[in-house]
Amino acid sequence: MDEFDLITRCFASMDVRRHDVHLGIGDDGAVTRMAGAAADLVLVTDTLVAGVHFPPDTPAAALGHRALAVNLSDIAAMGAAPAWALLALTLPTADPRWLDDFAGGFAALAGEHDVALIGGDTTSGPTLTITVTLIGQAQRDIVLTRQGAAPGDAVCVTGTIGDAAAGLALLQKPGAADTGIDRAAADWLEQRFLYPTPRVTAGQALAGQVRAAIDISDGLLGDAHKLATASHVDITLEASALPCSPALLAWTGDRTQAEQVALSGGDDYELLFTLPEQLHGAIDTLAQRCAVPITRIGRVCAVRAGAAPGASAVRDGRPLALDTAGYRHFR
Ligand SMILES: [Mg+2]
Repeated sequence: MDEFDLITRCFASMDVRRHDVHLGIGDDGAVTRMAGAAADLVLVTDTLVAGVHFPPDTPAAALGHRALAVNLSDIAAMGAAPAWALLALTLPTADPRWLDDFAGGFAALAGEHDVALIGGDTTSGPTLTITVTLIGQAQRDIVLTRQGAAPGDAVCVTGTIGDAAAGLALLQKPGAADTGIDRAAADWLEQRFLYPTPRVTAGQALAGQVRAAIDISDGLLGDAHKLATASHVDITLEASALPCSPALLAWTGDRTQAEQVALSGGDDYELLFTLPEQLHGAIDTLAQRCAVPITRIGRVCAVRAGAAPGASAVRDGRPLALDTAGYRHFR
């Protein structure tokens, strides 16, 4: 039983039916709608566990940033504006210097996005565990979900893909930096893992424009698969179109290898979305409003008769054999 089976089996059916739940379990965030309110509330939560989500020696400031960033990324994937955060911390020891650094990393990113920390919980426990719950607001009926992708849509991503996976590999095996890549490129890749950039501005610019969106946390192909399943469509990604950074290309030393990292690595926190045909010519304008480069990397097709929906990757028309599962806990 992996984490998604567990949710379906135990929690998805627990849903008490309330009229103010507009969108429940199964997307990047939930949406609630209060009678008479001008905006919907968007609620997300994410946990980081030492040794599972980050190496145990990760700097405290990076963890403070990252704990909020991964939640901001889910808020971005819903096209919402972040507003309020709750922080639950489980600490093996209360080291004041560590806590100052952690709080500094969290506060810097919270300030950038006008997020107020309004509560939480602090406990002692054997493993450093950080849970953030973030609440945002979205204009009624323009919230972005994983549903709604339609045949003919273009599949697009923000930024570059695969850098965080390379950065994590470098952090875990410092010797790997000696494989021809210079220190500046290695540092840049490591920073992409330690200090991900949540695409909050982009998410709000895309809301109301694009058909479906998800943030890339578990791996591009796996997350494309989740979007395809939620929208009941097929997604085909063209590997040669993937935006790979010069640093990633330098690290792998080979374009095809970089594409593999981009397809299956995780932790990018870029946005993947599908664009209706009438907007295919407007990608540059959209990228300007999003303040981040956007690359068209694939297409949405109807599901073949009798087949299940899903995502696959091709290179120059030839299918690539890759796992679409992405990262799963308990597997
Ligand atoms: Mg997400």
